[in-house]
This record gives sequence, structure tokens and C-alpha cells, in this order.
Amino acid sequence: MSNAFFNVPKAVNEPVKSYAKGSLERASLLNMYELMYNQDPIDVPMYIGSNEIRTDRKKRMAPPHEHSKTLGYFNYGDESHVRAAIDAALEARKAWANLPWQDRAAVFLRAADLLAGPFRDRMNASTMLAQSKNVFQAEIDAACELIDFFRFNVQFMTQIYNEQPESMPGMWNRLEYRPLEGFVFAVTPFNFTSIAANLCAAPAMMGNVVVWKPAETQVYSAHVIMELLKEAGLPDGVINMITVDGPLAGEMVFSHKEFAGLHFTGSTAVFRSLWKTIGSNLDKYRSYPRIVGETGGKDFVVAHASANPLEVATALARGAFEFQGQKCSAASRAYISSSIWPAVKKSLVEQVGSFNIGSPGVISNFINAVIDERAFDKIAAYIDYCNVQSDAEIIAGGTYDKSTGYYINPTVVVTTNPMFRTMVEEIFGPVLTIFVFEDNQFEETLNLVDETSEYALTGSIMAKDRYAIERATKALENAAGNFYINDKPTGAVVGQQPFGGARGSGTNDKAGAVMNLVRWVSARTIKETFVTPTDYRYPFLSQ
Ligand code: NAD
Repeated sequence: MSNAFFNVPKAVNEPVKSYAKGSLERASLLNMYELMYNQDPIDVPMYIGSNEIRTDRKKRMAPPHEHSKTLGYFNYGDESHVRAAIDAALEARKAWANLPWQDRAAVFLRAADLLAGPFRDRMNASTMLAQSKNVFQAEIDAACELIDFFRFNVQFMTQIYNEQPESMPGMWNRLEYRPLEGFVFAVTPFNFTSIAANLCAAPAMMGNVVVWKPAETQVYSAHVIMELLKEAGLPDGVINMITVDGPLAGEMVFSHKEFAGLHFTGSTAVFRSLWKTIGSNLDKYRSYPRIVGETGGKDFVVAHASANPLEVATALARGAFEFQGQKCSAASRAYISSSIWPAVKKSLVEQVGSFNIGSPGVISNFINAVIDERAFDKIAAYIDYCNVQSDAEIIAGGTYDKSTGYYINPTVVVTTNPMFRTMVEEIFGPVLTIFVFEDNQFEETLNLVDETSEYALTGSIMAKDRYAIERATKALENAAGNFYINDKPTGAVVGQQPFGGARGSGTNDKAGAVMNLVRWVSARTIKETFVTPTDYRYPFLSQ
């Protein structure tokens, strides 16, 4: 109990370090990368309550860019571990939910500062090794975005708590924001370390307890998240990390009476199947579970005839290929006006041809490996498909090699069919498909963009003509939850461009924003009357 209303430190975005040649941060991070690369294989436990659990079923962890290298093993669990994680979460709930909000806030503010300082290199290096991100991609994800999630969410939490109702004379109305009754299940994707941490941290910050199932290909960096949160003072049992089969975990969690919410990021198909299971189990739950999911995308760039071709080519080179196109926001279909196409094509092919590809341990490599063999084979099959279709032509890349790492050459496909398969389906790899439209077909093209895919995550319009910008902004109102004007469709920053999509791309609850945090509380209204009536007769009843 504190007799004060506390202000939280004002959140500002963590500055992105440059890692320029000769900088201290460059030497320090590369040193950590080498250290972690060369250390003896590690053994990552499951974190359940106060226990670190190890089992006989070890799964190997390897960098995607060097699959023969063993980074370590994680311990595969079974039903008993899912049950134990749920029990541990529920046991921790009372104390955590009753802890004053400023103490919960302090844990995450401390985590932010630890990550900005002593944990930064470890978190970045583990993300480079586990997910094959180059130095810059690791820095903007594992360090900066996660620090921003922690700091901004603390601020948003106080914004929610400050939201109070009016009170008429003779009464005092209050709202309190209770955590959900039960536990939250966080199911996280491989591609962003920050998303993995935030899907657990956001509900926990609001007083909830969490069972967390990370993606298997992200466990190596996931365990650094657990170390960070423990160091920050997060009590045991508030976030329980289990490495188990997804469907098995789902089966147990979704039939538990105390299941109170799902915080999911991953593919659309998996999210839909989880929602269906929750729907069919609705009778089993104490409350209606909150379902928050951010899912797939088929993100677009539309270039009007008035756009600068160099700007378009650069937006595509970065937007489609950074982190090997494995961002949910990555540009994967582009519509280019015919009069600027020759100049865009020349610059794009030049830029893509100049990419250095290889291990993130070599800092000049812009492109690294895709996450695993399954992803590699799937992306390679799309490229093979493009190679044999008469209505498509590969103008850059088109080759792949998995002998040492899962390397796909960034590939640009041009099609004469706007409904070509790779214009429609999410590939989640470094493949960009382009459709060239006649300058006088801009309006029709906007309709096409709107109707081609089931997704609505990100997209951008590139143009100088203000009427074209206004037209596209309106016509594509429902085609993207994050819409960009004269920029690439990737790189959303917490606190600046709240992130999330609609249609098949998710529930659009905007990660790292008030809109998301509000899903993890259940408000209780309290009305207190100061002079309570003592007779039922209202004045109108008098004779
Ligand atoms: P995925 O759907 O394969 O896996 C996501 C998580 O779900 C993993 O932890 C996985 O083990 C688990 N899972 C899979 N099947 C399950 C089941 N039946 N029951 C319970 N859990 C199950 O996704 P991924 O390959 O890790 O990530 C890539 C996808 O995520 C892409 O579609 C991408 O667009 C999307 N994504 C979206 C956003 C966004 O904000 N919209 C952000 C990042 C990634």
C-alpha cells in the first residue's frame, strides 16, 4: 500500500545502435556472437514455477545458416508438463494479481533497462544464432522493440488505470481493472524475439499469469528471455515456458476450466484451428476466453506513375528481403505503373544482385538463411513453380542451396497474371512477385489489390501525385491494418505505428498499444453511495 499516485517514467523509443565500423557496440556484439557460437552446447530447461525441468527427450538446436553446428539441446515435455505449467501459473496468480501495479511495472521497467544494458549483446547474439538475423535485424527486434514493448506498455497500463467514470453528487463511481480469472496461454512465432516476449509480458504486466509455448526454432533466444525476466525479478510461476508439441499443449489448455485467454502470433491456419477448438469447448470455461491473434499477411506495394523509381526499388529491396522476407509485414506483391517499370526494374535487379548472402556472423551479409528445412523446401517449391509457368518470369535470384545452411537467393518474379499464385498466397520467404499495370489502370489496380488476398496486414502507396495518394488511401482502407505512404511496409515502431492487421491477418488488437492491454483486464465497476435511502417511496408516489 502506498499513499501516492505514482507517475511512470515517460517512455521514449530505445535508440537503435549503428554497429558502424570501429564502434564499440560492433566489437562487443561480435565478440558475444563468437563466444556463444564456440561455447559448449547448452541445455535449455522448461521453466515451470520455481523449477527448471529437464527430460530424456532432447531436441537439437542449430543455426539456420549452419545446420550441422550444434548450439545445444532443449528438453521436450509431455502432458504432465503442460499440466504442471497450468498448476504453477494458477498457484502464482493470487500473489501476483494482488501485487500493487507499481511493483509489477517496476519488474518490466527493470527488464527494459537490463536489456538496454547488460543483456543487450546476449539477446541480440542469441537471435542472430537462433533465427539467422543480421546485426541490424537483431538489434531492431530483440533489443529495441522489446525494450519499447516493456517501457511503452507500462505507460499504457497507467493510461488504462487512469480511465475512470463520472460521479454524480452523493456517490463515487470507480473502475478497477482486474486481471482475467484464470491463466493466459501465449503461443508465439519464430520470427521475432520481441513478439515472443511481449505475448507473455503484456498479459503478465496487467496482473495475469501465463503458460508460454514458444516456437521450437526460437527456443535458443527464448531461454534468454526467461533469464532476463528472472533477473528483473519476475516471480516464479508468473510466466511458465514449456517446450512441448503445440497441438498437445492446445488440447490440454483449451479443455481447462481456468483457460482465460489466448495471446497468439503465427500463421492464419493455426490461429483459425485454435479459435475453432476454443469455440467448441466454450461450455467448459469459467469465463469467455479473450482471443487475440496476429497472423499472416500478403503485403503490397503500389507504385503510381508519379512515384520516384529509385525510391520504389529501394522500398522493395528492403521491404521484401530484409530478414529473408520472414516478416509478417514483408512486401510480397507489388503493382508497378508501366511508365516507371523499366527504371524500377533496372535499379531493383541491381540492388538485389549486390546483396551479400551468408552467416550473420560476417557483418557485411545483408541476407542470411531462412529458418529451417521445412520453410526452405516450401519456398524452393514456390520458386520451382514460378520457373515452369508461362505467365511468370524470374528476373533476379531463383536459386537455392541447403548444403550448409538454408539459403534462398532473394527472388523477383514478374507475372502477367495479377491472380498468379505467388501474388495471392503467403510464402514467408524472400520471394517478391510484381505485376505491371498500365498507367491509366490505376483505379482498377486498387480494386485488384483490395480483392486479391484474404489478408489485410500491411501495404504501401508510392506516389508524388496527391490525388493518387488520397485515392489509394481511401480505396485500400480495409486492405491493411498498417498503411504506409511513400515508405516500405515493414519496420513498425512501438508507440509510433501500433501494429496489427484485419481480415485474415488477425484480430487487430495492435501489439504494444492500449488496445492490446485492455484485452487482458476485466473491468469491475464500483458504485459507492454516501447517503443511502431508508424508504422505498419516491416523491412521485406522494398524494
Ligand atoms: P506457426 O503458425 O507455424 O506457429 C506459431 C506457433 O503456433 C508456434 O509456437 C507453433 O509451435 C504453434 N502451433 C502450431 N500448430 C499448433 C497447434 N495446432 N496448436 C497449438 N500451437 C500450435 O507460425 P510461424 O511459422 O512460427 O510464424 C510465421 C507466421 O506468423 C506467418 O504466417 C507470419 O505472417 C505470422 N506472423 C504474424 C505477425 C503479425 O503481427 N501479424 C507477426 C509475426 C509473425
